Amino acid sequence: MTTAIVIGGGVIGSAAALALQQRGIATRLVDPDPEWRGASRGNAGLIAINECDPLASLATLRAMPGMLFSRGGPVCLPWREIGTWLPFGLRLIAASGPARFAAGRRALGALLSEALPAWRRLTAEVAVPELLRERGHYIVWESAETARKGRSALPADPVTFHDATPDELTTIRSLVRTATQAVRFEDTAQIVDLDRLAEAMAARFAALGGARLRGRARLDGRGIRLETGEWLEADAVLVAAGPASGEVLRPLGHRVPIIAERGYHIQAAAPAWPEDMPSILFEDRSMFVTRFRTGLRATSFVEFGRAESPPDPRKWARLRRHAADVGLPFEGPVAEWMGARPTLPDYLPAIGRSTRADNVFYAFGHQHLGLTLAAMTGETIAAVVAGEPPALDLAPFDLDRFG
Ligand SMILES: Cc1cc2nc3c(=O)[nH]c(=O)nc-3n(C[C@H](O)[C@H](O)[C@H](O)COP(=O)(O)OP(=O)(O)OC[C@H]3O[C@@H](n4cnc5c(N)ncnc54)[C@H](O)[C@@H]3O)c2cc1C
Repeated sequence: MTTAIVIGGGVIGSAAALALQQRGIATRLVDPDPEWRGASRGNAGLIAINECDPLASLATLRAMPGMLFSRGGPVCLPWREIGTWLPFGLRLIAASGPARFAAGRRALGALLSEALPAWRRLTAEVAVPELLRERGHYIVWESAETARKGRSALPADPVTFHDATPDELTTIRSLVRTATQAVRFEDTAQIVDLDRLAEAMAARFAALGGARLRGRARLDGRGIRLETGEWLEADAVLVAAGPASGEVLRPLGHRVPIIAERGYHIQAAAPAWPEDMPSILFEDRSMFVTRFRTGLRATSFVEFGRAESPPDPRKWARLRRHAADVGLPFEGPVAEWMGARPTLPDYLPAIGRSTRADNVFYAFGHQHLGLTLAAMTGETIAAVVAGEPPALDLAPFDLDRFG
């Protein structure tokens, strides 16, 4: 393969396009937006290499009733979207049995084990290694009861986290008035500025000879067609269109059970929050708080539906309440954002080559872990396109697993 087109310029498509161009494959990246707008821009910034358990699990199913938005939790199943989430939910239940969960855990673990080294390589390649901060993150509990429950669900491997030290607890309590107990994960990391990362990746891609085109693409023969009618041909076409990837692949006959798992954030300036403070998961509130260079961001919610449905302002109102309750030191205007995680029912991504068209490849469906897995996914799919053996077994990520 000497030429490629990547459909979708979020973090996954951008990482893949750069990896292809690095291999000398002349690559064009197509996206209607000039910059990251979707989940790639609005996420919590965590390189969550600890998240090896697919969310399609018996534990998730058991916890689901207590996690519903109507009961104060983060999960929302809007009635108007039942035609979207019910079929997805049935597939999720089917994927949650012990055997599929164990296989999923192995597959996700293999991807995650290389995720952080891949980010080190990528941030070095685009000359912004300082954007990758390797300081772990905290889980904070606000009562003895929730701490007891939360601790019992922590992973078995004791080397990846420790009880917050007295100094760490003092720092946390100086910022968060409701904190009672905390643990610190040691091996996770954070991207401290997503806007700057996007710019740096785009600049390096262009410097290596890659081209970025504005437009919404659909597959057409050995290439793609844009809304303008323009047809572009390439040896390889990679679909990395996030939640829209199923729609893009439909003309080939792929039936992709992808859903938009919508999340929300609020963000404001917070000069009183230390620049180097690791992110905090407030487990009692399912709220993740991250210090970005651009401000302090609080993220939450898992709303199953269609990406294009209007946002639900109750989610921002609840985030603002949580932020006020724990005492986040927001200053000035508070920005509100909503966007969709691209999620498949077994909570594994789809990475590989289409069995329906030998020039079509795919990389999408990274659910809650798209930022974490972007660098690794980019390297992996670029190797597949180039005809090299990938670094790991891609069978679990084959799209045909959905029939
Ligand atoms: C609130 C929230 C918090 C999160 N926190 C984290 C976190 O801390 N860590 C983590 O690892 N992950 C996190 N995630 C998940 C992560 O953000 C996503 O998995 C990831 O951004 C998905 O990237 P993507 O490139 O696949 O999709 P997107 O960012 O959605 O990008 C897809 C791109 O495809 C383009 N596109 C769509 N259709 C077409 C078409 N026909 N032609 C051309 N282009 C097209 C779109 O314009 C878009 O730019 C979070 C997500 C949310 C919502």
